[in-house]
Amino acid sequence: MRAMSLAEQLDTVTASTAGTVDRHATAQTFESTNPATGAVVGVFPVHDAAAVAETVEQARAAALAWADLGHDGRRARLTAFRGYLARRMHELADLVHRENGKPHADAILEITLAIDHLAWAGSHARKVLGPRRVPAGLLAANHTAHLEYRPLGVVGVIGPWNYPVFTPMGSIAYALAAGNAVVFKPSEHTPAVGAWLAAAWRAAVPDAADAFQVVTGDGSTGAALCRAGVGKLAFTGSAPTGRKVMAACAETLTPVLMELGGKDAMIVDDDADVAAAADAAVWGAMSNAGQTCIGIERVYATEAVYDRFVAEVTAKARDLRPGSDDDAAYGPMTMASQADVVRRHLDDATAAGGRVLVGGTVDGRYVSPTVIVDAPETSAAVCEETFGPTITIAKVRDAEEALERTNANAHGLAGAVYSGSRARAMDLARRMRSGMTSINSVLTFASVPALPFGGVGESGFGRIHGEDGLKEFTRAKAITRKRFSLPVDLMSFGRPAQATDALARVMGIVHGRHR
Ligand code: NAD
Repeated sequence: MRAMSLAEQLDTVTASTAGTVDRHATAQTFESTNPATGAVVGVFPVHDAAAVAETVEQARAAALAWADLGHDGRRARLTAFRGYLARRMHELADLVHRENGKPHADAILEITLAIDHLAWAGSHARKVLGPRRVPAGLLAANHTAHLEYRPLGVVGVIGPWNYPVFTPMGSIAYALAAGNAVVFKPSEHTPAVGAWLAAAWRAAVPDAADAFQVVTGDGSTGAALCRAGVGKLAFTGSAPTGRKVMAACAETLTPVLMELGGKDAMIVDDDADVAAAADAAVWGAMSNAGQTCIGIERVYATEAVYDRFVAEVTAKARDLRPGSDDDAAYGPMTMASQADVVRRHLDDATAAGGRVLVGGTVDGRYVSPTVIVDAPETSAAVCEETFGPTITIAKVRDAEEALERTNANAHGLAGAVYSGSRARAMDLARRMRSGMTSINSVLTFASVPALPFGGVGESGFGRIHGEDGLKEFTRAKAITRKRFSLPVDLMSFGRPAQATDALARVMGIVHGRHR
């Protein structure tokens, strides 16, 4: 008889088969379901505070051994993990498709990105975080100065459902590479994917199996993780939940990383390649059913290009079809409640004078590709995160007005600029109030492992990915070592009275001439 794959195991009663999940099984369970069919994908325990605390304690012990492996040891194991993911990519993509609803091909893209980040984090950790000598400076010239970035111990990761592999992996991969153990609480809408990742880790890295563990459940399990004494809590989700996470972590002064929502804009300037901008805007807004934190939700196109841009976008949007088959452009809304948010934003925009040029229908969990123009800047469709396959387009005088409107939003996650002028585009990108901007493309920064990822304002703070993402999961450790004693020790009660006068004279010579 053929052995059951991990995904097949998860299809049955997952609680007893998915890695660590079974070890802390509690009486209460919950189901995750396929958003397209309603079929049960898996049944999982709701881990209570005691189970979460026990898992964190196990991870604490594992963290010591994981840290002791050193950069090379961890790199070898992270390599084994990504090799495992790469070999089972279709199996994982199938599970993502069934539990999240996105097309299989999009799931492959998501997993590919996650693997690339794992590779970068593992191979760059030593260079970014390893011990180094730094100049000791004039006042400590008889000392050597050493800097290194030490792990925090156990990092708690709380994730969303929209990119159930890529998004949490932005914290998990970098936290592990930095020498921490990780306890991950996936969204209650995608627990099977989280459990699959933990089971994959145990299979690929059996000698450090407890360095990455999963607990499942709803917000109460997440809240318990916040209070479990982790070294840092990396949260990805909505701003309202982020506030609760910060409040819970404040009780124990647990530091937090906040990756929150966005309302990303695209600016289309006079000299932009309009066809390319329209193609990217439609994909950026509607792929993954618009359930992308860095998705394009609003466009500001200058008077010079507005009509052509709108024509191109509407033509392309009309060609898209949602569904759960292989040819569908995007799938159903993962959460039924998200369709209600889209409906509310549509109603609000049209009541305020907005016009729906394409789509505008919500049929169960399927939202048709929707293009809205003339929606006031104060309407929910322009101000709030919609998280659906919708896009608003507004006509602006010039790129300066586009930037002003872009920056007026409380969110500041990412954005895009389309322009024919490299200098102009770079200037607009720099002045865009966001953590990331793509010029003449959308979302590209997320696929560059060396670039940090994170927002400002309502989009949160802290960074995953790149050097900043590795340092995010460490504490800087400073060490000085005395090489030889000086005749006069300034940091001693035994120093002669004239020593500080001499010091003041030297400082006067070195710094006093600067005006
Ligand atoms: P959410 O805030 O509803 O839930 C996120 C996670 O928090 C879930 O695992 C949930 O169980 C948990 N949670 C809920 N209440 C909690 C509590 N009191 N304490 C601790 N944890 C709790 O968000 P969501 O609907 O899962 O995800 C969508 C949101 O995530 C969108 O706003 C999207 O823009 C954002 N997002 C941001 C990024 C980013 O990198 N900035 C990436 C993906 C998604």
